[in-house]
Amino acid sequence: MSEPRATNAAKGEALFRAPCTFLKGVKSAGDLPQGGPPEVAFAGRSNVGKSSLINALTGQKSLARVSITPGRTRELNYFSLGKSGELTLVDMPGYGYGLAPKIEVRGWTRLIQDYLRGRRELKRAFLLIDARHGLKDSDREIMTLMDEAAVSYAAVLTKADKLKEPELGKTVEDVAAEVSKRPAAYPHVIATSARTGLGISELRAAVASVLD
Ligand code: GDP
Repeated sequence: MSEPRATNAAKGEALFRAPCTFLKGVKSAGDLPQGGPPEVAFAGRSNVGKSSLINALTGQKSLARVSITPGRTRELNYFSLGKSGELTLVDMPGYGYGLAPKIEVRGWTRLIQDYLRGRRELKRAFLLIDARHGLKDSDREIMTLMDEAAVSYAAVLTKADKLKEPELGKTVEDVAAEVSKRPAAYPHVIATSARTGLGISELRAAVASVLD
């Protein structure tokens, strides 16, 4: 039976109350830490608002770099979360940025694939989708990878402040309808805004639920 929302929210807030610290940047699968606490990963297209969302979640303004140039972060960035580091947040390199040199794209696509396919510590991924753009083919490719690797994931809309109702509700429904057909995805979609704080507490609770 699922717990009441208030309990989940309190667990989420408690987990994110302690300072979150940067652990390391991982450039290739060989650099991945051996073992460690459960991991929760954030994936999404370049410029989706991933750094802003991680900063909003952790309440730390400059923890993840908010990039001026899309696609600047090409590493898996590891952050320790919780009082005793009970969870690790993994900021994945943004994908789908068309102007990057091919050779680099191959390198970081490989890193994303290796990580998603083989990481036992990875308990949940959050797939960030720009509320204005909805799902793109590059998102669908990542979803297929996670479905094949049986990595459980949930879709999270970012920059929800950019849409008004009924557009926002319609986008949530459209994304939910598509992800609900995916074997490894949670059908529930969380709408967030790093700017207004919408959905941040719900997302914190979803991250904390991995520890249940
Ligand atoms: P990343 O490349 O995915 O890490 O994205 P960033 O966090 O660097 O954000 C990309 C751009 O989107 C920046 O100009 C941010 O200011 C903007 N942005 C990020 N989150 C939000 C949001 O919640 N609302 C709005 N309106 N803009 C946002």
